[in-house]
Amino acid sequence: ATPTALMVGVGRAGQLGIVIKGPEALEASGSIDTVLLDKTGTLTSGEMIVESVTALGGSDPVEGQHTKQDIITLAAALESHSEHPIGRAIARAVDQPAEVSDFHALAGLGASATLDGRRLLIGNRNLFAEQGITISERAEESVDAAEAAGKTAVLLAVDSRIVGVLVLADQIKDSAAEGVAALRELGLTTVLLTGDNERAAVSVGESLEVDRVIAGVLPTGKSAVIEELQAQGKRVAMVGDGINDATALATANLGLAVLNGTDIALKSADMILVRKHLGVIADAIQLARRTLNTIR
Ligand code: ADP
Ligand code: MG
Repeated sequence: ATPTALMVGVGRAGQLGIVIKGPEALEASGSIDTVLLDKTGTLTSGEMIVESVTALGGSDPVEGQHTKQDIITLAAALESHSEHPIGRAIARAVDQPAEVSDFHALAGLGASATLDGRRLLIGNRNLFAEQGITISERAEESVDAAEAAGKTAVLLAVDSRIVGVLVLADQIKDSAAEGVAALRELGLTTVLLTGDNERAAVSVGESLEVDRVIAGVLPTGKSAVIEELQAQGKRVAMVGDGINDATALATANLGLAVLNGTDIALKSADMILVRKHLGVIADAIQLARRTLNTIR
């Protein structure tokens, strides 16, 4: 690789709204054939809103009943420390969330914290399965209904008892369909890779016409999927934004982070996509191809 060709490539990248961490990134991306796309925050705006809250009630005389307002208040307090798009949306739903202690983000699953001596836990079904907390039929039905509509539902538990369901809706970015189409035109295989549920993922995947959807993947699973593809001889680019994407971004032959992403995603990536329009993904890969062609 001649330094001059690489320098021209880096300069051109700047004009396209792409920040390249080092010349190696340009060389690696020249031979990419498969592009994995994270859903939440990458293909979708990540600006989720809380659409509805269901109070599950229950007749526990000691615990009493948590109203919808109680549920949103507790969930917002818990999520006020979250960097996740779901957490931020829930935190925004309340003006002054109460202060919690001992906050933990559980990547790909949810989050936990303590408020007034009570353990709060929020997240998806996998989280509660992992914690051995039973999901009632009512809660299950309410999550199912939301997911069937392509939405994301999370459960809130207080002291290991599930008290409510929060349904969130996200919007596919305006430029997502064009971004995916541009990748297809370059002959690349597109794969939507997400920790979200299968139905929400398929609904997004179909509307964007990606080649494949892999859903319900834990953060550690994302890099395992990449390693598997690499073992099949694929050269993989990963596009992501979250903490949950960091390992995958590092494992991929080319890691691309969208700018609205979390710090750790930006650190783990080879390139940062500053331009908002998702056509920038295809531009990054094409730029690398052209740079390599001039080199050879
Ligand atoms: P994606 O791969 O689409 O970015 P993530 O791996 O970040 O999705 O999250 C996967 C799932 O984990 C979410 O759909 C949600 O169910 C759950 N989750 C993650 N973080 C949180 C949080 N802070 N609050 C509630 N649920 C969460
Ligand atoms: Mg994400």
